[in-house]
Amino acid sequence: MSTHLLAVWGALCWRPINAVPTATLVLAFLTWQLADFGITIGYHHLYSHRAFRAKFPVRVVLAAWGSAGFQGSIKWWRLRHRLHHRFTVSSTRRSSRRD
Ligand SMILES: [Zn+2]
Repeated sequence: MSTHLLAVWGALCWRPINAVPTATLVLAFLTWQLADFGITIGYHHLYSHRAFRAKFPVRVVLAAWGSAGFQGSIKWWRLRHRLHHRFTVSSTRRSSRRD
């Protein structure tokens, strides 16, 4: 949440938007997308659910991208996510080993 507030604050400071260099906009978009991949693929599917196996370099890249999302450490994210599934998943999925 704080990242989003900082983004809004940054955008307001850079008014008008056409004053922002194109490279900055491209970098911001790429960082946003890579952080999203890091959270979704890395923090969620790899580290929380162990949905797949990955070699060490892939794990490092996904961890780095996920950290760009400023959602806490992998350990903290996994703990919170497992608590989320404990209290929100239906009884049919609760017996699954990966939940
Ligand atoms: Zn999940």
